[in-house]
Amino acid sequence: MGRFSNKMWKVLGAQSTRNQSRSVALIEQSAAFDEWAQGLSDEEFPDAALALDVYAAKSDDRAKFIAIAREGADRALGLRPFDVQLQGADRLLEGDVVEMATGEGKTLAGAVAAAGMALAGRSVHVISPNDYLARRDAEWMKPFFDLLDVTVGYVAESSTREERREAYAKDVVYGSVNEIGFDVLRDQLATRAEDLLSPKPDVAIVDEADSVLVDEALIPLVLAGSVKGDVPQTAIMEVVARLREGKHYEIDADGKSAFLTDDGAKLVEEELGGIDLYSDAHVASTLPQVNIALHAYALVERDVHYIVRDGQVKLINSSRGRVAELQRWPDGLQAAVEAKEGLSQTDSGEVIDTITVQALLQRYALVCGMTGTAIAAGEQLRQFYDLGVSQIPPNTPNIRVDQPMRVYDNKGNKVAGIVDYVREVHETGQPVLIGTHDVAESEELAHMLKISGVIATVLNAKNDADEARIIADAGTKGAVTVSTQMAGRGTDIKLGGHDAGDESPEHDEVAALGGLAVVGTGLHDTERLDQQLRGRAGRQGDPGTSVIFASVEDPIVERHLPLKRPPGGADPETGEFPRGKAADMLDSAQRVAEGGMLETHANTWRYNQLVNQQRDLVMARRHTLLTSDRPLTDFADLEPERLAELREAGIDDDVLEQAAREAFLYHLDRTWAEHLAFVSEVQTTIHLRALGRQSPLDEFHRLVIEEFRKLPDEAVRRARQTLQEAEITGDGIDLDDADLGRNTLTWTYMVHDNPFATKGMANMFGMI
Ligand code: ADP
Repeated sequence: MGRFSNKMWKVLGAQSTRNQSRSVALIEQSAAFDEWAQGLSDEEFPDAALALDVYAAKSDDRAKFIAIAREGADRALGLRPFDVQLQGADRLLEGDVVEMATGEGKTLAGAVAAAGMALAGRSVHVISPNDYLARRDAEWMKPFFDLLDVTVGYVAESSTREERREAYAKDVVYGSVNEIGFDVLRDQLATRAEDLLSPKPDVAIVDEADSVLVDEALIPLVLAGSVKGDVPQTAIMEVVARLREGKHYEIDADGKSAFLTDDGAKLVEEELGGIDLYSDAHVASTLPQVNIALHAYALVERDVHYIVRDGQVKLINSSRGRVAELQRWPDGLQAAVEAKEGLSQTDSGEVIDTITVQALLQRYALVCGMTGTAIAAGEQLRQFYDLGVSQIPPNTPNIRVDQPMRVYDNKGNKVAGIVDYVREVHETGQPVLIGTHDVAESEELAHMLKISGVIATVLNAKNDADEARIIADAGTKGAVTVSTQMAGRGTDIKLGGHDAGDESPEHDEVAALGGLAVVGTGLHDTERLDQQLRGRAGRQGDPGTSVIFASVEDPIVERHLPLKRPPGGADPETGEFPRGKAADMLDSAQRVAEGGMLETHANTWRYNQLVNQQRDLVMARRHTLLTSDRPLTDFADLEPERLAELREAGIDDDVLEQAAREAFLYHLDRTWAEHLAFVSEVQTTIHLRALGRQSPLDEFHRLVIEEFRKLPDEAVRRARQTLQEAEITGDGIDLDDADLGRNTLTWTYMVHDNPFATKGMANMFGMI
C-alpha cells in the first residue's frame, strides 16, 4: 500500500461508493420500466432491445435495458435477476471487476452485461475457467440471448475449426482463456486471410477474474512445432553428471534454479579442455548447455517430475498428479533429460509463438470481470490492468462462521487434528469439503481418513465435467469431499446436493445440521485463495463454517520464514498451540509470500512487456501481409526483374501476390521464432551476462532491442532470396521444395504447472 498516499485511497474509496450508489439508483429507476418490459411480447423483445444503447449518454436506455434483462431472464430462464446481480451487470458494463460471493449468480450477471454490450454493437468474449463451464454457461444462458436476438456460441478443446469459426462470428462467445489464446496463436499459421479464426478482440468479460488476471496472468500459452532437439554435447553431459550438490553446485531455496560454485566451474572448465566458461567465446554457447545439463541432473527428478514410460520421458503435471501428455520442457531441457536417461532423442518443440495470459487480455479494448475475491486483488488489477473494482453486496447476508486458524507444531499432528475434526463433523451428517494444495496431499489425507473410518471422495477425475459434478454434490448430507485447487473452479455447491432447490427438504436438513463445513489444510500463498476456499460455504445466506489447519512446518513457513524459530507452548498431547498463538507466524509467512509474488509478477511483467510490444509489431505486419496487396507491391519494388519474368511466363498477378505473401510470411514467422529463442536464451543467462555491468533488466532490454532491430531486414532478405530461387508456377510457390515447409505437426500447451513447485509437499507424504 506504500505506493499510494492516504488521500488517493480516500479518493478511490469515495469513487467506488459513488459508483455503487449510482448502480443502486439505476436499478431503482429501472423499476419504472418493468411494466413496459412485461407488456412486450416475445416477438417484440428483439426490436425493443436492439433500440437500446446502454452506453448512450443522457438517456433512459440503460434503465430500460435493465428492465428488459430482468423480464427477459425471468421469461427465458426462469431466473428473475436479483437487484444485486443487476448492479453487478451495471458495473461490468462500466468495465469494472465486480466482487460477488460464490453462489450469488455471477453467470447471469455476466450474461446480462454481455447482452447489453452486444446490443450496443460490441463483440464480447466471456472467458470461463474451463471448457466445461464455457459450454455449460453458453447453453444455460442461450434462451436469454435468443429472446434478445443476440447470437451466442462457445469454443472448447473439442471444437473443430468450422465450429470455432462459427462461434467467433457470434455476438457473444464463451471460451476458456487457453482455447481463445490458442486460437490467437494458431492464426499465426494462416497464410490466407480467410483462414483466420479469431476476430479482432473487443470486449472480454472474465469469470473468476482474479484467478485468470492475477494468478494465471504470467502463464505462457505456447504454440510449438516439431524440430530435432539440440542435446548438450556428450562431454558436457558427462562432466555435469559427476558434479555434486554443495561442492560443485548449489540449488537455491525455492528449488527452481541451480548454479555452479567456483569449484564446479573450475572442474567443468578443466574437463572441457581448460576453457573459460565466462569468456565471450563460451558465455553464449557452452555455458547455456552446461546450465541445461545441470538443470536436467540437479533439478529434475525421475518419478517426481517425470516418469520414463515406453522409452519416453513423460512429464508429470504436479498439481493434478497425472502425466501431462502434451507437455514438454523447453530449451533443450527435454533433450538433456532424454540424454540423461540414455534414451534416444525425440523431436523437441520449437516455440513458434507464445503469449502470456496477461498479454492476451491486453489485446482487448475493454476488460472486465467478476470473482468472489476482487477487492483483495485490487492492487494487482489496478497496477497491471488499470482496472477498478466494485464490491456488490450479497443478496442475503452472509452468516458463515470462520473459525480461527488451528496451528500445530508439526505436520503429523496437523494431519491427525484434521482427521479428528473431520470425523467428528462427519458423524453429525454435516457435509465436509476439504481443500488441499495438491493431489499427493489429497490422497494421503483420504487414506488417513479411511483408516479412521471416514470414506472421502477424492477429486482425481479425468475431466472438468466429472470434477464439477463431484464438487456440485459436496453439499449432500454426509458427503466428505477432498479437492485440490478450489480457486477458479467456478462451481456452486448447493446444500442437499446439486439438484436440491433452496427450499427443498434436502437443503433444509443440511442447513439444520449447520450447512457445509469447509476445511483448509494450510494457508495458501495468498489470503485471497484462502477466502476463495472459505467462500464455498455459506452461499446465498446458508449457514456454514470454515476452519484452516496449519503447522509451523508447513511449506509456506519453510519457504518464506526459514530462519524463524517456532514458539513453544504446544499441547504436548495434540501438538496444537493455544488458539491465536503461532498464528502470527503463519500470517507473516503468508505476507512475505504475497509480497514476493507481487514482486515476481511486477518483475516478470517488466521482462515480458518489451517482447509483447515486439510481438504486436510482428502481428501488425503479419496482418498487413495477409489482408492487403502489399506482398505484390513489395515484390515489385524489391525484385522487379524476377516479377517481370514471371509475369511474362503468363502467371496471374493473383498467384504472384499469394506466392509473395507466403514467402514474406514464412520468413517473418521464422525470424520471429528465432527471436523468441534468442529472448529465452538471454533470459536464462541474463544474471551472468549482466555481471558487474548494468541492471539485468537494462541489459536484457539492450540485447533484445538490438536483436529485434535486425529482424525486419533479415526477414526481407531471406524472402527476396526465396522469391528469386523457389519455383513459382501457375500453381503458386513451392516452399516445401525449397526446404521451407511449414511445420505440419504443431501443438499447443500452457506452461501451467511449475514442475518444481510442490516438491516439499510430495516429499512430506512420500508420494508420487
Ligand atoms: P456463482 O458463479 O456466482 O457462484 P452461479 O452463476 O453458478 O453462481 O449461480 C449459482 C446458482 O444460483 C445457480 O444454481 C443459479 O441457478 C442460481 N441463481 C442465479 N441467479 C438466480 C436468480 N436470480 N434467482 C434464483 N436463482 C438464481
